[in-house]
Amino acid sequence: MSRHVLVLGGTTEARELAAALAARPGVRVTSSLAGHVSRPGALEGDVRIGGFGGAPGLADWLREQAVDALVDATHPFAAGITANAADAATATGLPLVVLRRPGWLPGAGDRWHAVASLEAAADLLPGLGRRVFLTTGRLGLAAFAHVEGVHFVVRSVEPPAPPMPPDVRLLPARGPFTLADELALLREHRLDLVVTKDSGGVATSAKLAAARELGLPVVLVRRPPLPADVTVEADVAGVLRWLGFGLP
Ligand code: NAP
Repeated sequence: MSRHVLVLGGTTEARELAAALAARPGVRVTSSLAGHVSRPGALEGDVRIGGFGGAPGLADWLREQAVDALVDATHPFAAGITANAADAATATGLPLVVLRRPGWLPGAGDRWHAVASLEAAADLLPGLGRRVFLTTGRLGLAAFAHVEGVHFVVRSVEPPAPPMPPDVRLLPARGPFTLADELALLREHRLDLVVTKDSGGVATSAKLAAARELGLPVVLVRRPPLPADVTVEADVAGVLRWLGFGLP
């Protein structure tokens, strides 16, 4: 009988994990996506899309689909689904592991201001910068909607919806971005501050290197805390080991 693993996804690591699990004999993998991105790209294994209806809905789904193990490979800032996964694992008694890439660490020459929330980041403007590269994700723009006297440049895969800041330039683009991309963007738009969530990972870290090279300050929004007592692995290999599969 095959072992059924549910991967709560929406990240590069979740995609890599699904591919690694789909390649294993005796494993059925289902990836779950929130459905916020209209063209999420191909995923190996089964895919389901849309919310479960909170932790109770997720627990029902886990029982109905005879899931054997749950992997929360969602984005570090997707705190709602991460809390639901922990609650549903407790309710069903299923093993849960959180795949969480490490956060970014400042290096020599970095001028980072760490804050606890998007709202706290908005509070630092316009004192810290007047031409801001805002990379907090299209759903994070609302926290900056009241900020006047600041020109924002926002890059996103899907067009953002209001509310958003009054003076904003929208650039459609999908990562990863190179250091040369980011230096060119910061220079072209004469930006003097970068605002980002601590997403971690390499796909979007070049903006930090670019800020360092140009001597620009960065406002870094810290991650929300994880639920208590969850098991965390930093990469796909760690999750495969936790599942008892080791490396192929
Ligand atoms: P969230 O605030 O934690 O979740 C809100 C609700 O969306 C959840 O309660 C759940 O609805 C549904 N949901 C979220 N992720 C889901 C998933 N993988 N499968 C099924 N339902 C899901 O989430 P979010 O911050 O909006 O992120 C949504 C998705 O985008 C996640 O998959 C995440 O990995 C990805 N993502 C988020 C960010 C970010 O910065 N937040 C960045 C990149 C990618 P129900 O309660 O109805 O089940």
